[in-house]
Amino acid sequence: MVLPAAIVAARFRPRVVIAGLVITVATILACTLGVAPNATIKDPVDVMATLALLAGVVSVVWALQAAELHHRGEAILDPLTGLLNRHALLPRFIELACQARISRQPVCLMLCDVDEFKQINDEHGHDRGDAVLRDIAYELRKRLRSFELIYRLGGEEFLILLPGIGRRAGIEIGGRLCAAVANARPTGIRTTISLGLSSACGEAIDYDTLFKEADEALYKAKHGGRNRVMAAPAAEDEEGEHEQLSALDESFLASLVA
Ligand code: GH3
Ligand code: MG
Ligand code: MG
Repeated sequence: MVLPAAIVAARFRPRVVIAGLVITVATILACTLGVAPNATIKDPVDVMATLALLAGVVSVVWALQAAELHHRGEAILDPLTGLLNRHALLPRFIELACQARISRQPVCLMLCDVDEFKQINDEHGHDRGDAVLRDIAYELRKRLRSFELIYRLGGEEFLILLPGIGRRAGIEIGGRLCAAVANARPTGIRTTISLGLSSACGEAIDYDTLFKEADEALYKAKHGGRNRVMAAPAAEDEEGEHEQLSALDESFLASLVA
């Protein structure tokens, strides 16, 4: 009786565990008190020991299960922002790439870096810097759809994966994200981000290539003056060379934020 209860505690949700426990205790009592009530009351040691063993094993297994879930969450969640961290990135990217190849949809990879963040830390302190990072993470997450993914890579760098989004749409979304952060003024401090993006379709979807291209585009966004989006050169089926949209462009901002 203890073994099935322990297995239930290890595998199922609390409600199922409690139901399993109630059934197990009821079965034990039915087989003892129900069959031989006088003998059981006269010598309850066996029943009591079985119930104690049951309670002990189930509590230990339950606690271990809760601890494992907690550690699993900690392993993939960034404690500062609550976003997924880089450990969660690659397995999800592989799934996404497989889906995109089958459905012939593009995937857009975006690298986001907070502009002159060291200066924010230096001027306002590390704690305020942390709060700025939390606000930026919240702002970015809020602007993405539920199936679009955002990760904190570390420091003031984030990575966004947009399934089904090609280069042009990626540039537009990136511009919107830049504008959103600039308008949000996290913790009251004027803060901007720079974005570098790359996209690919079908067999060309490769994490290392997309990351490298997005990183080069981000480098160009920084050197182009920050607070902007730069896209990697288009693949042969996409037009244009480096496409750049500045989030500082008032008309552009107005059209996106409206
Ligand atoms: P750039 O516009 O070129 O990106 O300049 P930057 O100042 O943002 O870049 P730099 O790499 O010089 O500085 C990044 C800073 O981010 C330095 C580091 O102390 C700070 N930082 C990294 N992780 C954290 C964190 O978790 N919290 C806080 N508050 N600061 C962090
Ligand atoms: Mg950086
Ligand atoms: Mg930076």
